[in-house]
Amino acid sequence: MVAGNWKMNKTPTEAKLFAGSIADTIPAELLSRVDVVVCPSTSCIGSVTEVLYGTDISVGGQNIFYEDSGAYTGETSGEMIKDLGADYTIVGHSERRKLFGETDEVVNKKLHYALRKDLRPILCIGETLEEREECETNIVLERQLKGALEGISTEQLRKIVIAYEPVWAIGTGVVAAPEQANEAMAFVRHLIETLYGKNLAVDCRILYGGSIKPDNFDDLVSLENIDGGLVGGASLDEGFIELVRIAGRHA
Ligand code: PEP
Repeated sequence: MVAGNWKMNKTPTEAKLFAGSIADTIPAELLSRVDVVVCPSTSCIGSVTEVLYGTDISVGGQNIFYEDSGAYTGETSGEMIKDLGADYTIVGHSERRKLFGETDEVVNKKLHYALRKDLRPILCIGETLEEREECETNIVLERQLKGALEGISTEQLRKIVIAYEPVWAIGTGVVAAPEQANEAMAFVRHLIETLYGKNLAVDCRILYGGSIKPDNFDDLVSLENIDGGLVGGASLDEGFIELVRIAGRHA
């Protein structure tokens, strides 16, 4: 899987044009082997789903609120983005955790809600630089994963994509060394095994995210524990198509 997080970039007009060019360029054969998801800002979801209708490229939100409607000024519900045609939503991105105070408890509520609305969550977890330097990476991953998955059944976990995104690698140009990424993701798989059993640990889709670029993706996606990438900056231009091609070589 290659998922693009466009963050707060592109107007609806620009997003529509870009999504159309992705759809025109990626061959259908490649899309039959690599799951491609684009996550535009909420304001662009409608225009992007419209232009991607009938293609094998899925659309996701970057964030949802966990109620259908009500007095939640500025929020958008999962039901609303589902109605716009989204099939996925990112949940618990580190920017949401850091800038908007999202706790593990809120992430858990959003996960449950997304699943009730038939949206496939892309659950982000990852440690900060300080936590890594203090050798707390596994402690943080365990806390975030267990917190997010509280009350999530085996059947529900099958619909969740996990993205290991070390915070120090997001938007910094500093990509995790393949061994670092593989080690952390092996630990995530091990946690899934202890919580849900071996089969699900093997089947569970785990992405790496953090400064992925066409020139470093091949080394990452060829690793045993990595099933693809969640991409920020490099998903905003044609480089994204190259990332899908690279993933295709390993699919
Ligand atoms: C992200 O925002 O999820 C991300 C991985 O960003 P970038 O690729 O720009 O580091």
